[in-house]
Amino acid sequence: MKPWGWLPLLLQLGLMWPLGALSEPQLRVFVVPHSHMDVGWLHTVQESMQVYVTNVYNSVVEELTLEKKRRFIAVEQEYFRLWWDGIASDGQKSQVRQLVAEGRLEFVLGGQVMHDEAVAHFDDQILQLTEGHGFLYETFGVRPQFSWQVDPFGASSTTPTLFALAGFNAHVISRIDYNLKKVMQDTRELQFVWRGSRSLSVQQEIFTHVLDQFGYCSEGFNWDGEAIFPGTSPNDMYLQMQIPVTKDNIQIFTSLLVRNALTRATWFRTPHVLWPWGCDRQFFNASLQFTNMDIVMDYINSHSLEFNLSVEYATLGDYFLAVHSDQVSWQVRDHRDFLPYSLDMHHAWTGFYASRSGLKGLARRASSLLYAGESMFTRYVLLAPHRFLNPAWGLQQLQQLRWAVSEVQHHDAITGTHVPRVGDMFVEHLSTGMEGVHNLMSYIIQDRFPAHSGPEPGGHFVVVYNPLAWTVTTIITLTVDFLKVSITDESGRPVLAQVQPSKEMPSAYDLYVLTTIPGLSYRHYSIRPSRSSQEKTGEPEPFVAKTMQFGGRLRRSARQVGGNLVPVNNDCYIVFLDLDTNLMHSVWERQSNRKVYMTQQFMEYHVKSDVWKGSVSDNYVFTPSGAAEPAWEAVRMEIVEGPLVTEIQQYFYRKVNDSEPTFAIYSRLARGPQGSDGELLCHRIEQEYRVGPLELNREAILRTSTKLNTGRVLYSDNNGYQVQRRPYRDYKSNTIARNYYPMVQSAFIQSRRSRLVLLSEQAHGVSSQGNGQVEVMLHRRVVNNDPGNMVVDLTLNDTSVVQPMLWLLLGSRALTSGLRQRSRLALQHRPVVMLREINDRKHEPKADLRRVLLRLQHLYEVDQDPVLSRPVTVNLRVTCPSRVLLRHL
Ligand SMILES: [Zn+2]
Repeated sequence: MKPWGWLPLLLQLGLMWPLGALSEPQLRVFVVPHSHMDVGWLHTVQESMQVYVTNVYNSVVEELTLEKKRRFIAVEQEYFRLWWDGIASDGQKSQVRQLVAEGRLEFVLGGQVMHDEAVAHFDDQILQLTEGHGFLYETFGVRPQFSWQVDPFGASSTTPTLFALAGFNAHVISRIDYNLKKVMQDTRELQFVWRGSRSLSVQQEIFTHVLDQFGYCSEGFNWDGEAIFPGTSPNDMYLQMQIPVTKDNIQIFTSLLVRNALTRATWFRTPHVLWPWGCDRQFFNASLQFTNMDIVMDYINSHSLEFNLSVEYATLGDYFLAVHSDQVSWQVRDHRDFLPYSLDMHHAWTGFYASRSGLKGLARRASSLLYAGESMFTRYVLLAPHRFLNPAWGLQQLQQLRWAVSEVQHHDAITGTHVPRVGDMFVEHLSTGMEGVHNLMSYIIQDRFPAHSGPEPGGHFVVVYNPLAWTVTTIITLTVDFLKVSITDESGRPVLAQVQPSKEMPSAYDLYVLTTIPGLSYRHYSIRPSRSSQEKTGEPEPFVAKTMQFGGRLRRSARQVGGNLVPVNNDCYIVFLDLDTNLMHSVWERQSNRKVYMTQQFMEYHVKSDVWKGSVSDNYVFTPSGAAEPAWEAVRMEIVEGPLVTEIQQYFYRKVNDSEPTFAIYSRLARGPQGSDGELLCHRIEQEYRVGPLELNREAILRTSTKLNTGRVLYSDNNGYQVQRRPYRDYKSNTIARNYYPMVQSAFIQSRRSRLVLLSEQAHGVSSQGNGQVEVMLHRRVVNNDPGNMVVDLTLNDTSVVQPMLWLLLGSRALTSGLRQRSRLALQHRPVVMLREINDRKHEPKADLRRVLLRLQHLYEVDQDPVLSRPVTVNLRVTCPSRVLLRHL
């Protein structure tokens, strides 16, 4: 949560007293003790363990054991497991088992973290849930029944679907649009049955509870004060400790709680009030908490007729059982989500869709590598004999990366809403985990082919693994030190390749190699410098691409007449570049024989940064001071043409005299063989960007403007899982920011006849601010003078250069809906390129290799495609060897 954001809460608590409330039937107030423990936000995991997490579990277990009526819900499994594995004594462990068995300590959610819902991919959400649930099942034999997604910044409809599939009985969310929450309170619609998936509909519905305007914090009932981190000054603390409850002041506490409960009761349809007790980093001294609250609750219960309510400690299970027993029939909500999230009229939390873009990219690359490592390990080690590799060591490498990828799904991690120091921790955990899995994959290769002699001095031995289950034809890029090379495959046959000067390193070369790899398989290539000229040896060499240079063009003097076009083509598209502007002019899509006018440029939002003049942009919030403006004065273009790939390089200069461009687009059209999976390769315009470093308080976008009549309707995905329709809405204020949405993997705009699809390899913000337009927020650098943010160093002074990638698909709706799902997977799970490496393995641990987890997903939503959307039956007995144990998620 944001510091200071809820300070007005105390005022509201005191002021509200609904006159009609006393006529309600007697209420049961379920006081649910909890501690919100962010897995990295202002402090690292290690610091948090030292300062409060350990004390939370130590003291909660002790206090629950002392008094039978007390309850607690435990949420973030990463912390619990660190405590359980590294700190808890045998005595504490048996106490925990007892408390869990009696239902007094309840694990809710059960994931490693409370995952973000806007920018996290659902593969990763499943991963982090599986990690936590597996531990709970193996350790306690329990499976969580209730979710507790009370802090993520907006609610996606993937989550209820996922939790219904995981067997949850109820789902709790909190942060939804302020206006909508008010309406839902007034109409008593904070509880409903959510059918989160259009395709699964009634099969996977879940009872959903939206926390009311008080959220998950119970201000005024915090007796253990603030956990003190080293270096914290008293001024930095935002949770003030309450004075202890005494005979003299008990009525202040009781009336505060009673009034609050009666107010809340008016917003719900059953006489049961869910009263979350706790907040961020609470219960590190559970004794102080419970002993004071015991007095308050005993007092209320001894006057329950007078107050017209009773209070009790409860778990979520206790509360939902009571609600369920009332047999109310509930409204049904369809697949629409609760994004974007606005805290109020002036604070649209749509900035975090693009905050720390570099980390968002790293998180997804780590996830893809893990996916590849898991399948390679299963196929080549677990299910087949291996000679030298210790599988237990291999599992350790995978486990390390599973933890790191799970951790970064936390709602202050992949969102970029953490302090820089904590960001370093996420990067370190991901990098270490990736290195381990890279090593593992290299070992597997070596283990399979130890006799292979490898390359000659100065050359490379390259292995390329296809993590997808189908045959992929694609182009991989390698960097080599020499222009004249010879590349052969595993049979010694020459391979189709193209070489050109590297964009990144002046003395190196990019080598493009065409490859076709069967599903879950790998190929290897040998690359060596050519010893002599082609004529002498007869060895074919890669084609050297031709570079055409076009001079710079000034933005202000550009004439957009389209009279001077240069075409770049492959078998699916012709891209026309306008030589008067050096910008894209149009794209002709061959299959439907249709030309779409389309241009692209980098623009920037200048953002508000003076908190004394109103709301500002920060890690969470996007507050532009006006419409986006072009971010460049000149653009230079080169076209590098070859038989395999033609690359259009556009360099955008912020100022005419700048020596380095701030922005670049590298657009590639590939020419692969027809047939098999070459269809996907042909039907994409691959674009890689280079953005940054940005000037202060700028948010950079790539705007693609077309002449498609789209009515400003945008389509964007929820977590890579399903598509949401996003019509443009006008608001009294903040209209630009409130029309921003997360794009985790894909977005598109369409006219009646054509659709332009953007596929991304990481999360971004996306919006359609004008007819025929789609813009992607690629990077943010914002620093404001908000005292709350400054005290905790919650700034976004991100001076990095980011290099995200998009694939553009253009065509009829029928064509693109068939291609979009397979292409997004092809982008996410591109072949993994490995140079053969050998390192020492030091550990020889033991492992349980009896179990394989298999996930199956239908790629197409209902009605998306007449053929591809049909239900599919998979016979697992045929698919899997008998020794593999299947577990359904
Ligand atoms: Zn949080």
